[in-house]
Amino acid sequence: MSEKLAIHGGKPIRETPLPYGRHWVEEEDIQAVVNVLRSDWITMGPKIDEFEQSVCCYTGAQYAVAVSSGTAALHGAMFGLGIKPGDEVITTAMTFVATANAILYLGGTPVFADIDPKTGNIDPNEIEKKVTPKTKAIIPVHYAGLPCDMAALREIANRYNVRIVEDAAHALGAEYRLDNKWYKVGECAHSDMATFSFHPVKHITTGEGGMILLNDKVLEEKTRRIRMHGVSLDIRKRLDKESIWLYEMVDLGYNYRISDFQCALGISQLKKLNRFLKRRVEIAERYYSAFQEVEELSLPNPSSSLAAVNKHAWHLYVIQLQLDKLKGTRENIYFALRAENIWPQVHYIPVHLHPYYQKRLGYKKGDFPVAESFYERILSLPLYPKMSDEDVDDVVEGVTKVINYYRKR
Ligand SMILES: *Cc1c(COP(=O)(O)O)cnc(C)c1O
Repeated sequence: MSEKLAIHGGKPIRETPLPYGRHWVEEEDIQAVVNVLRSDWITMGPKIDEFEQSVCCYTGAQYAVAVSSGTAALHGAMFGLGIKPGDEVITTAMTFVATANAILYLGGTPVFADIDPKTGNIDPNEIEKKVTPKTKAIIPVHYAGLPCDMAALREIANRYNVRIVEDAAHALGAEYRLDNKWYKVGECAHSDMATFSFHPVKHITTGEGGMILLNDKVLEEKTRRIRMHGVSLDIRKRLDKESIWLYEMVDLGYNYRISDFQCALGISQLKKLNRFLKRRVEIAERYYSAFQEVEELSLPNPSSSLAAVNKHAWHLYVIQLQLDKLKGTRENIYFALRAENIWPQVHYIPVHLHPYYQKRLGYKKGDFPVAESFYERILSLPLYPKMSDEDVDDVVEGVTKVINYYRKR
């Protein structure tokens, strides 16, 4: 016996749609922005340094470069490493297009590696198969907020002398344990750089924004230049002149600046990050306990063996449909949930399947079978700190209602 689905004309679980992610901006955040808007500096002022310092302090990295988006941060990381035509950079097929596009911006070649179907993270064994003498770097993505196997990645990077840039857009606040010590994602203890995004669906927001974290002074100077047209001010020091018109353009950079009022929002949001993370964990735990008995679903388990060596940041709660036990496809279930006003999302269409990547780089369906079959089965359930317990209950009810209808047995 199952209830009539909203998609068949039944009553939806809730009146208003619940998106998969959303920001949480409170009164003090708004005040912080307004204060900057009333000040003399709305861009290129002191809040940028202050935000960079706050994120360094939070992660433990030495240097930070705040930029206009997470995509600009990835571009900056590739720029900092000096990626050029002919260079190959290995990344995961299961990511947002921005990760691989950053390689293309410098004329480099994105080389994809398949994933571990349990976690959605890049599979280190697959990376190893893709290394060539042209490989310059690896960009792992901490999918959904679960850190990649940094010990395995570091070992590969050392062996082949390549760099690691973590796309940590999902993983602000995540940690991993290695040799009895906890490391924060963004600390760059086992990588050369890490990048964050402050888009509204991410852990904290600046509207649009991003940041590059790193520990190497030389790399930092080059990376920072992407933000302001490749301009260097070293000439002032060299000539010992404080003449403020003096600057030299030494690289082809961009305008990737972020404004002071955005950084003020970021500083204010960062103060709430631990509260936000705690709420994300709570919601993930509620989903797991609600669905663990449902045979038609495979779920991330917040207290699996992975939890002993990882603090998951729960950017996404990605369920995998056991399609052999269901009458419908992922698409059927997606639309049925949407009609109930539960709006899940799919993260991600494997990058190599996008027309641009197929036409321009020669990738085709079948190249990354694990990522492709993962893609067919996944749905990201609504998960963001501002969700109330009632919202979470609605998701549980909606998913239960829809799965009851589509189950075979
Ligand atoms: C959000 C995201 C980006 C891009 O960040 P923007 O701030 O939107 O440019 C890159 N990679 C991953 C994995 C992301 O989730």
